[in-house]
Amino acid sequence: MENRRQRGLIPCYTCNAALAPRNMPRIGEDIERREIAISRRDAAGRVPMQITEETRFCFNCNRSVTDEIRLLQNDPSAVRLNVLSQTSSQTCLICDGDNHLVRLSLKARVNIFLKRNIYASENTRSCRNHLDDAGQLMPEFLDGLRFVNRPLRIAGTVLRPFLDELRDNCTTGTRYENENNFTEEEFATLSPVTREQFRILFTYCDPIIERDQFLYVTKRHLLTFLCKMRQGVPDDFLASTFGYNSRQRASSVIATVRRSLMQRFVPENLGLGHITRDQFIARHVTDFANHLYNPTPGTGRIILYIDGTYIEVEMSSNFSAARKSYSSHKNYYLLKPAVVVGPDGYILDVHPIYFSDVRNNDAAMLIDTLQRYAAHNFRPWIRPGDIIILDRGYRNARLILEQAGITVIMPPFLDRGSSLLKKLIIRD
Ligand SMILES: [Zn+2]
Ligand SMILES: [Zn+2]
Repeated sequence: MENRRQRGLIPCYTCNAALAPRNMPRIGEDIERREIAISRRDAAGRVPMQITEETRFCFNCNRSVTDEIRLLQNDPSAVRLNVLSQTSSQTCLICDGDNHLVRLSLKARVNIFLKRNIYASENTRSCRNHLDDAGQLMPEFLDGLRFVNRPLRIAGTVLRPFLDELRDNCTTGTRYENENNFTEEEFATLSPVTREQFRILFTYCDPIIERDQFLYVTKRHLLTFLCKMRQGVPDDFLASTFGYNSRQRASSVIATVRRSLMQRFVPENLGLGHITRDQFIARHVTDFANHLYNPTPGTGRIILYIDGTYIEVEMSSNFSAARKSYSSHKNYYLLKPAVVVGPDGYILDVHPIYFSDVRNNDAAMLIDTLQRYAAHNFRPWIRPGDIIILDRGYRNARLILEQAGITVIMPPFLDRGSSLLKKLIIRD
């Protein structure tokens, strides 16, 4: 190297022959020339190097590269494709790193082709940390890929598995795009709602916006979400059933559907914003409840029941979450939502979900909800004179409700020796 430099010689980018600069054409800006130069340098096993304005070929290499381009352009067996462009096929396609690289899987290459219309050769390499569990390039890297539209010869042995994978990709999953592909019984095992309700629910699935981009919900996405609700199966199971190419993809689909439903479906169907007081009294306060609890049964009043319920969850792998979700009372891992229902069983609202450790008893949850989340919502809806029926687990919250003018009805303690019948007298 020292010698060459002293003699004013520079090496050819591809074959390393050293010549005087006047005998060495520049590689130039042409992307095809650059791509061929890179692949030849790779094939010669030389270390990757960025091509600059000053990078040069020897005469021989220059002629043969020019010939290759002419041949390819006139070769009917070559296909013009958007070919992934990289600094070197020996380095990572994302960060150019050269440590712990893996070759992209066939599935990952097909996915790049489907999502970006970019063809990545079978030699494309990536660092492991740009890939998800299934070996797919993470979605955030897909957008940044660059390509060159150029003719390419693809050997049959390479093309065949690529086409097979493409075909697989097309056939799995499409069944789930249409609810009519299932019998009523089949649909019931997938979804907690009927087909008719499914169609209505789907009209609520507006796109969500994430990082200035619209994310759309398809019927397959909604069905995946409902199947998760219905069967509680792991996301990797959903990925293989519904034809997503990774567990992460299935998880992100479920999250997208949830966020989409939270935009319009939930607020229009749950919570104190979705129904007026008068509508609630007219539709959901039964005569029976009026006669039982309302001192003036002639004029309807708001009558509500609030009670905590349980959702069983798996033990979390996060120690703190596992401890907080363990209920020593029920001997199981639980989360506790409190549900607000009308006398006819109509669910008016669900309070935020709490962990189930001892600190979150019913009363503490209600007080917290009243103070934090619901103050701006619950207070204007609930007015003095309203009746709320609670069990004894809420006795510590009683005062705070009564101070707001609410009539709290709670079963009294059984006195020693008193008859169980008394328990039925609910009026305090
Ligand atoms: Zn050369
Ligand atoms: Zn990398």
